[in-house]
Amino acid sequence: MKRDRILLSGAGFLACAALIWGLGILSSYSKAGTGEPMVSPTDARERDFYAPNSEDLAPDEMRLIACGTGMPTARPKQAASCWLLELGNGDKFVFDIGTGSAERIAAMQIPYNYLDRVFLSHLHTDHFGDLDALFVGGALAGRQKPLRVWGPSGDTPERGTKYALDHLYKALTWDLDGRAGITDPRGYQPFEVTEFDYRGVNKIIYQENGVTIRSIPAIHSLDVPVSFIVEWNDLKFVFGGDTYPNKWYAQYAKDADVAIHECFIAVPDMIKKFQFTPQSALAVGTQIHTAPEAFGKMMSIIQPRMAVAYHFFKDFDTAASINDRIRTTYDGPLSLSEDYMVWNITKDNIRVRRAIVDEDVWPPPATEKPQLPDPSLRIPYSEMIAGGKYDMKDVIQPTYDETNKKYGLNEKQDD
Ligand SMILES: [Zn+2]
Ligand SMILES: [Zn+2]
Repeated sequence: MKRDRILLSGAGFLACAALIWGLGILSSYSKAGTGEPMVSPTDARERDFYAPNSEDLAPDEMRLIACGTGMPTARPKQAASCWLLELGNGDKFVFDIGTGSAERIAAMQIPYNYLDRVFLSHLHTDHFGDLDALFVGGALAGRQKPLRVWGPSGDTPERGTKYALDHLYKALTWDLDGRAGITDPRGYQPFEVTEFDYRGVNKIIYQENGVTIRSIPAIHSLDVPVSFIVEWNDLKFVFGGDTYPNKWYAQYAKDADVAIHECFIAVPDMIKKFQFTPQSALAVGTQIHTAPEAFGKMMSIIQPRMAVAYHFFKDFDTAASINDRIRTTYDGPLSLSEDYMVWNITKDNIRVRRAIVDEDVWPPPATEKPQLPDPSLRIPYSEMIAGGKYDMKDVIQPTYDETNKKYGLNEKQDD
């Protein structure tokens, strides 16, 4: 906002200059007689995109970023479901972390210590397939605490979040053993899983720092999927996981400031472009998921300040069909989402933009000093493997000398 004011006052100054001096050259940059700010040849205009790490978040503001809007089948343009919610009180929440989304989160340049809370709507890989990437990559780049994950219980223990994450952690045994004694160990501790009853209807599953998060059941594939309702500072944000349209969403997502709900590819495009059989396209596109017309009907029921549709491949030749179908049942505010869309939400305004990201992004600064690892925890190579080392000590030693000198250390090469 500050920047906006500076730009306006800059334009105002030039407008005065044009009046006083009556210079024809300046008037060619103004809209004479309209009273509208003129376009300066030197001053930057207001941006219509979001550049990560360039804007403060106001104390009463929410910022929502689409870090994945696509499908289980990976594509460069769209990661699978992932939504980053930042609050003006400093809290940040990740809702779903589908395949490919960790790099979108990285592009937001947020210190990883602040990205320690993940809420999973269900256990399809397009909703949690990049959890391992955030877990390991985040710990390596500054998350110095365990990753906390909230997710639904199973109808059997094996179909619950805790089972999935305990086994994911076990699957990372080799990865984690190899890091012991080399880097700050704190981020690699087991996931801290909070499993809540998937049948809970608008029950509180999280309450900290003025933020309340509730869950409602969803109807998708099997029992267990859920959706989330976040309330903070008189703002209501709803994240709908995959579902057939359901009565809980219709009741509890009502009057949301922002309501995300899945909206599947139109059946003709599933057949033509995704090569589904007509039978599968109908079942998947209208019964397991929400068809665009049904998405529109749900939004007409709940009347959000902004409806957000996701879970379709959004291209020049599919978006119009989705939009047209939604518009047969809904005429309110609508965002057909794609990766890197950004919503700034306050009581007075919802601003929708796209983020322009730096693909060469490096990890953001750590918020705490790293803890030095205990080298005695390192697991050694076997004699046979260690014996295969080619002697490179002489060419590596200068790097040790340089680093030891610069930082006053006495580090030595491995034997
Ligand atoms: Zn799913
Ligand atoms: Zn899905």
